[in-house]
Amino acid sequence: MISRTATCHCGELALVCSGEPRKISLCHCLECQRRTGSAFSIAVFYRRDSVRVERGDPASFERPSASGQPVEFHFCPRCGSNLFWEPARMPELVGVAAGAFADPAFPAPEQSVWTRDKHRWLSLPDSIAQYELNPPPRQPAD
Ligand SMILES: [Zn+2]
Ligand SMILES: [Zn+2]
Repeated sequence: MISRTATCHCGELALVCSGEPRKISLCHCLECQRRTGSAFSIAVFYRRDSVRVERGDPASFERPSASGQPVEFHFCPRCGSNLFWEPARMPELVGVAAGAFADPAFPAPEQSVWTRDKHRWLSLPDSIAQYELNPPPRQPAD
């Protein structure tokens, strides 16, 4: 089974993710812009039991989200990189920062959410589904 390692900027915090992600989602929301310091974030969602902290002791920060349920973010206490997060809205999944894999060959996001807040200059390929806010609830089949 494929296994990928996400690490923070300084390298003290490492997360091993086994198997393929459940979904990959690009988010344009203003909270993600502030959190990342970039125009959007890319979340790689893994099943909870596919992710383990291999090295380091993350600090955490919780905030409410638009869904009304909180999200808890975990980051490196030394360099501040936000490595993974736990959305209460999707308790079976853990989001991992795509950039932390530092892999240009990493699979592309399948969806783009909160396009309402997308930077105006940015256009995405048609292969990425776009949702103005959060996506509709998933069908049981997927
Ligand atoms: Zn670090
Ligand atoms: Zn967001």
